Amino acid sequence: MVQFLPAFLRRLITLLLRVYYNMSNCIFCKIVNNEANATIVYRDEQVTAFRDIHPAAPTHILIVPNKHIESVNSLEVEDEALAGHLFSVASQLAAQEEIAEGGYRLIVNTGPNAGQMIFHLHLHLLGGGYMRHPMG
Ligand code: 5GP
Ligand code: ZN
Repeated sequence: MVQFLPAFLRRLITLLLRVYYNMSNCIFCKIVNNEANATIVYRDEQVTAFRDIHPAAPTHILIVPNKHIESVNSLEVEDEALAGHLFSVASQLAAQEEIAEGGYRLIVNTGPNAGQMIFHLHLHLLGGGYMRHPMG
């Protein structure tokens, strides 16, 4: 839906969402801190993974850093190990969900043109069926 809006409207909506999330109202922070419900499938001291509320594939898991990082644009050099860990956990969960062999897709939407809606960095793990290709 978002992709059909004019570019300036997408940017405005993104700006408003970012302001909203900066006001410590972040739903993913709440899920990480057990202040909001989600089906958690993995948790450690660095990351939390839970099922997407509107799955776009038979397996649709979101893997998020436990600390609030807005997007890939906000990653610092000190976050490199954390960013790598998101991928390790994705690989582990793909095996656990039995989609590793069949194949899966990892997506990190960043900013208005990519339709980022939640301004807490997250890796989408999608699989369990054939996905349209090419993307974009
Ligand atoms: P984005 O477009 O920002 O990359 O994707 C955000 C994702 O978060 C969407 O797929 C959306 O369905 C999911 N989502 C939004 N709010 C919630 C929530 O409260 N709980 C869960 N589990 N997923 C959510
Ligand atoms: Zn957050």
